[in-house]
Amino acid sequence: MTAVMPTYGRIDLAFERGEGPWLVTADGRRYLDFATGIAVNTLGHGHPRLVTALTEQAAKLWHCSNLYHIPGQTRLAERLCAASFADKVFFCNSGAEAMEGVIKLARRYHHGRGAPERTRIVAFEGAFHGRTLATLAAGGNEKALEGFGPPMDGFTHVPFGDAGAARAAVGPDTAAILVEPIQGEGGIRAPADPRFLAELRAIADDAGILLLFDEVQTGVGHTGKLFAYQWSGVAPDAMGLAKGLGGGFPVGAVLATDAACAAMTPGSHGSTFGGNPLAAAAANAVLDVLEGDGFLDRVVETGAYLFERVRAVAARHPRVIGDARGRGLMLGMVCRVANADLVAAMRERDVLLVPAAENVARMLPPLTIARDHVDVACDALEEACAALEP
Ligand code: PLP
Repeated sequence: MTAVMPTYGRIDLAFERGEGPWLVTADGRRYLDFATGIAVNTLGHGHPRLVTALTEQAAKLWHCSNLYHIPGQTRLAERLCAASFADKVFFCNSGAEAMEGVIKLARRYHHGRGAPERTRIVAFEGAFHGRTLATLAAGGNEKALEGFGPPMDGFTHVPFGDAGAARAAVGPDTAAILVEPIQGEGGIRAPADPRFLAELRAIADDAGILLLFDEVQTGVGHTGKLFAYQWSGVAPDAMGLAKGLGGGFPVGAVLATDAACAAMTPGSHGSTFGGNPLAAAAANAVLDVLEGDGFLDRVVETGAYLFERVRAVAARHPRVIGDARGRGLMLGMVCRVANADLVAAMRERDVLLVPAAENVARMLPPLTIARDHVDVACDALEEACAALEP
């Protein structure tokens, strides 16, 4: 028993250091990290650019209140806006906090336009938006809500991918539609119809409400574009980011158009740590690498190779893995054995994966991996599948 509150089912394993895509235990056992705790270590472990940026900033200034200008934060905001649909960014520290901010922004938008009754949000079954009371309610997962009292009111859930149901759920009290372009915790689920996001955009425009994306897991290069929505050509009014943005340093962000955040006036929202100098240095360093020549093209190429190799293993072991789904370096294997068994069998072979809903085992490697890392993971997958054949 440890003194840490037992909110996690922990695996009996601890790491002392990380080197690129490898995690190393105190006794020197090396694990290939295809989980990146979860979808966070965008550049792997100990990336020199990130280490230099953080150590240089650490020697200068760690923290400074948002009562003052923070130049690194301003630069980060400008870069995120230049690379996306957004005009403004609010910084926070986690995905739940980013999504909480997105939800607040949607309500405040209508309040600012004289329609304070528009507070409800249409969200999707299977979604995950975080563990605060509002984001738990937004996710609507009964197990995650259990024991925490009445869920926050204001969310209507419809089946993921069903734009017709979303349209039917919009009423005079609706503020926004909230969706993950690919559901991460939900099992790397993408909508069956590629027009889904476009249809949601049209519904939001017709009703004068906001379209909100949760790119906490899909964002920051995982799909081979900086943001997953960019594959669809459909832009939201506001979007939450976190996880990979700081490459392991906690930082979250709410991105919004000027119109969507018009009511976010001084005093309307805040965060003590949000976008502090260390967080901004880390995220700027991550962007330096991701925006480097050909980086995202390599994510697309390596991702295609990963999908090809995983699908080949799945074809040889259809009783263990049914399908590989996702995009770029965000891959979900739909398991035909228990996903926990596949994850455990891979861990025994020194490769770390992470489970998700719908009996999926996720591969979320660092975006810096090369083909030979894919080979190591997929050779282990072949062995794990052979061992698990029913
Ligand atoms: N949104 C999505 C899509 C996520 O995948 C997660 C975490 O898994 C969150 C929000 C919550 O992020 P955090 O754990 O940083 O609060």
